[in-house]
Amino acid sequence: MNDCLFCKIASGEIPSKKIAESDDIYAFEDVNPQAPTHILLIPKKHVPSNLELVDGDKKVVGQIFLMANEIAAQLGIDQTGFRVVTNCGANAGQAVSHIHFHLLGGREMSWPPG
Ligand code: AMP
Ligand code: ZN
Repeated sequence: MNDCLFCKIASGEIPSKKIAESDDIYAFEDVNPQAPTHILLIPKKHVPSNLELVDGDKKVVGQIFLMANEIAAQLGIDQTGFRVVTNCGANAGQAVSHIHFHLLGGREMSWPPG
């Protein structure tokens, strides 16, 4: 997908603060952090939202959760706790139509989210 912000970030066309990368995943700092640690993890493949995930994406979604664990450990929030969330659609507040997983930590969080 050519006009997608996160595809451009994954390819390096638009700059970002990279945290980690694999063949299929790119992780970078959120530009408007909502917690002391706020990282976004995305598949390099363009998937607009949860709803467009297909069978072949199962592996990369699992890998994203494992990479989130690794990043949480590297950034020292694994023991204090963290949250991995994905927003799907308008009511959830999804603003970028390339599926992304927020890794949030470094402060106490409330539940349910707003
Ligand atoms: P969501 O509301 O779940 O779609 O989250 C989109 C996230 O992308 C927000 O937390 C934004 O701060 C973040 N974001 C938007 N543009 C950029 C960018 N160029 N670099 C890093 N993060 C961004
Ligand atoms: Zn995209």
